[in-house]
Amino acid sequence: MTTAVAIAQRVQSGESSAVAELEVSLEVIRSRNEELNVFLHVDEDGARAMAKQVDHVVASGSNAGPLAGVPIAIKDNLCQTGVPTTCSSRILEGWRPPYNATVIERLVAAGAVPVGKTNLDEFAMGSSTENSAYGPTRNPLDPSRVPGGSSGGSAAAVAAGMTSIALGSDTGGSIRQPAALCGLVGVKPTYGLVSRYGLIAFASSLDQIGPLTKTVTDAALVLEVIAGHDPMDSTSLPEPAPSLMAHLNDGVAGKRVGLVRELIEGADEEVVASVHRAVDVLRDGGATIVELSIPELHLGLSAYYLIAPAEASSNLARYDGVRYGLRVDADDVAAMNEATRTMGFGAEVKRRIMLGTYALSAGYFDAYYGQALKVRTRMIEAFRSAYLEADLLIGATTPGVAFTFGSKTNDPMAMYLNDVFTIPTNLAGDPAVSVPFGTGEAGLPIGVQLLGPGRSEAMLLAAARVLEVGDGRS
Ligand code: GLN
Repeated sequence: MTTAVAIAQRVQSGESSAVAELEVSLEVIRSRNEELNVFLHVDEDGARAMAKQVDHVVASGSNAGPLAGVPIAIKDNLCQTGVPTTCSSRILEGWRPPYNATVIERLVAAGAVPVGKTNLDEFAMGSSTENSAYGPTRNPLDPSRVPGGSSGGSAAAVAAGMTSIALGSDTGGSIRQPAALCGLVGVKPTYGLVSRYGLIAFASSLDQIGPLTKTVTDAALVLEVIAGHDPMDSTSLPEPAPSLMAHLNDGVAGKRVGLVRELIEGADEEVVASVHRAVDVLRDGGATIVELSIPELHLGLSAYYLIAPAEASSNLARYDGVRYGLRVDADDVAAMNEATRTMGFGAEVKRRIMLGTYALSAGYFDAYYGQALKVRTRMIEAFRSAYLEADLLIGATTPGVAFTFGSKTNDPMAMYLNDVFTIPTNLAGDPAVSVPFGTGEAGLPIGVQLLGPGRSEAMLLAAARVLEVGDGRS
């Protein structure tokens, strides 16, 4: 398995070059992208120029950075200067951002080479990548199944070996759920740990950017590079970024791990079995296991489907046919706005805008949006109490393995339920990691989820590392 750590080491030592590593990545993309529909845009020329720059730095005897020459796939809701950025929506067709997201700046400064933009559910609304205006992405492990979503393209890029690492965004599970369905490690960082400057907003009080990787070590490496205060994002935490790589082998000895009943309830038998086996591995590693119940977690889905659409309806008001991408001409400005939005947005995005606008409207605000915010506060308090009894929590990432195309598209509730275990941490603003552990139906991967209080990424990644070794994938 090629990891980012291995590529960077080869490039920095001169054993390989950034240009050669990029060509390997482009070759896999060329051979599988048509079948899997992973990349919406491959920036061959831009990537070659960046790779040459890395090789130049290495040749001059300098350190090219911890990600020297590592090709990386970027979810297409992150802005990269001059590179088409669509959010998988018709409404942004043809738009090229005039600036880089902070995460792109940091990755490039660390030597990484962004190769292209990956498919997602339109505006990151979905759990299967079937909501993309540019067609669904297929799961490389079984092309008859979805890769999860909304960061399905980023997950598929790594699972198919097109790149060793990718960036995704997670508002309600969109990094962890596709990571679970594609057999990868996915991290949803603490709210504010990673700058969202240049991330196209879906639900601003929930969105976070994070890595999808094959190994826990690569996840720690990428997160360490992209985390840290950014004056361009007012929600960015002021503290320095945590040191993650240095704590990877800390283990779990002495840690109290809370097995949360509500985070496995309703999951397939094989998923529950995986979580129980993961618990055994952590116990063998010296952790104490406590069984917990956090009944408030049941409220997560309903609160999320008011808060997230409410914020989305406001964030997406800017797509009016004037400033970005698509414009459908009409007799006057109002008619042009309407025609553009009617043509530019897909069904799920329209559904969310309507839900959100309704929840925010005068007369309904208190009953829906206001109520959801109160539920959110209860959830934050419930997590806080749980973290008095346990250092970290464990549960499933998803109720089942990757599902087949079309199996949930006619029933939005069935699709929404796929995020029942991931949504609560977004509402609380806390971090969570999905790590592959065991397999289920048809040999498909299962993801186990580790959750912790704010800024506990180092502890979560150390625990994930114990599971990675325990699952025989060290
Ligand atoms: N599937 C959830 C939704 O559709 C979460 C999406 C996300 O995390 N971006 O809202």
